Amino acid sequence: MTIGILGGGITGITIQRFLNQESEILEASSKPGGLCRTYWKDGFGYDIGGHILFSKHEAINTLVDKLLEGNLNSCKRANKIFYNGHFVKYPFENDLAALGKEEAFECLIHYIRNTYPKPNNLKEWAYYTFGKGIAEKYLIPYNEKIWNIPADQLSLEWVDRIPKPPMEDVVKSALGIETEGYLHQLYFRYPTEGGAEGLIHALMKEKSNITSNFKISSIRKKSDGWEVSDGSKTKTYEKLVLTFPMHEAIKCFENVPAEVLSAIDGFRYNSMRIVFLAVNDESLMNHSAVYIPDPEVITHRVCYMGYFSKKLVRPGTSSLIAEITTNPGDGVFEMTDSECIEKTIADLNRIGLIDKEKIITTDLQRVKYGYPVYDLSYSKNVKIMRDWFKSIGVTLCGRFAEFEYINSDECMKRALSVAQELNTR
Ligand SMILES: Cc1cc2nc3c(=O)[nH]c(=O)nc-3n(C[C@H](O)[C@H](O)[C@H](O)COP(=O)(O)OP(=O)(O)OC[C@H]3O[C@@H](n4cnc5c(N)ncnc54)[C@H](O)[C@@H]3O)c2cc1C
Repeated sequence: MTIGILGGGITGITIQRFLNQESEILEASSKPGGLCRTYWKDGFGYDIGGHILFSKHEAINTLVDKLLEGNLNSCKRANKIFYNGHFVKYPFENDLAALGKEEAFECLIHYIRNTYPKPNNLKEWAYYTFGKGIAEKYLIPYNEKIWNIPADQLSLEWVDRIPKPPMEDVVKSALGIETEGYLHQLYFRYPTEGGAEGLIHALMKEKSNITSNFKISSIRKKSDGWEVSDGSKTKTYEKLVLTFPMHEAIKCFENVPAEVLSAIDGFRYNSMRIVFLAVNDESLMNHSAVYIPDPEVITHRVCYMGYFSKKLVRPGTSSLIAEITTNPGDGVFEMTDSECIEKTIADLNRIGLIDKEKIITTDLQRVKYGYPVYDLSYSKNVKIMRDWFKSIGVTLCGRFAEFEYINSDECMKRALSVAQELNTR
């Protein structure tokens, strides 16, 4: 076989789809899709988080439209932030009037009279970019929940993902004049049928050569290529593209320099619990997502599956998923599935986002690798890791292989580039 693609998430599947050479995907689980998989329970479908499709890259939007032709739901974002007991439109800085006059004034005056010095970490960046009001009421508490680390320990490599609003918008929003922020994701795409996984099936429709249940445990360089094994079967390839999580991948290689092992050991990542709740009415249908900065509530974001596609809920019902970031030792990590579900229900019921009496079914998925975390040693460590893989001739592509906070659209874009490069070599 010419090319071995290690890992069958959206990155690996996109690479294969656009390669014009023979290739095989090796995937540890019984089904491909990775983080883009959709799970089903009692007639309800749900994803690993709010898996909506949007991109700054028009070529990717066009590709997604083509792949999902006949199965495409176009949606307008209806995200809210649940702040101090009421809803504020997302992003926060575009709906300051919803906070009431005193708080809106506080946000606005600090935004305008902002003399914070140039930032070195996310906390400083929040003050520097948005001022004390917006930083302390929303940005810092929300980010400390999703990243599960104090904001002054987060570096700035990823902040270009947070668009900076024009000053006119912030002033208008404080005065109650309607504005929209984060325009690149105001409209998004989602498969009508099949949940987020619908895109995986669309990619696999024309071409798919996947060996499932193949958990790679060793990767060895040979004089004429590579040997990849799961401990019982061995496959050989001329070239490799590695798309599965780096923390797992590095264990498969021999003679890894100590510096590389230590860099990868230094990568911080967040695990997730995805709690699914369905209710016997349509009350969870009117938002796309609700962001919850309140540290007393276990989840930082809930997404309403029926808003993305009605095919994910049974008639007359609705559902949400609660995204929870967790790491060993934080108390959530140690919870059983039912304890985590119970805590989520209790918190959402307390703040009024659900009525616990109406719940008809629940479920939970554990995700080991959810978010790569950009701590202060991120850049140094990532460079050491990437340089080494380059030196041994293994191409890295994807969220946890490259160890970068990228969404499916960026994974697809990079996968296309890798495929094109391999096609021309
Ligand atoms: C909570 C959450 C919400 C998100 N929301 C969005 C969103 O709204 N929009 C968006 O575009 N993106 C979103 N993303 C990001 C998106 O899910 C990822 O960027 C994308 O799915 C990563 O794909 P990947 O193929 O690089 O990696 P993965 O999906 O992680 O795939 C890696 C594959 O490797 C396999 N594997 C692991 N170990 C081995 C082994 N030893 N041997 C063989 N195979 C192995 C895994 O089973 C998996 O299938 C979200 C992610 C999370 C966690």
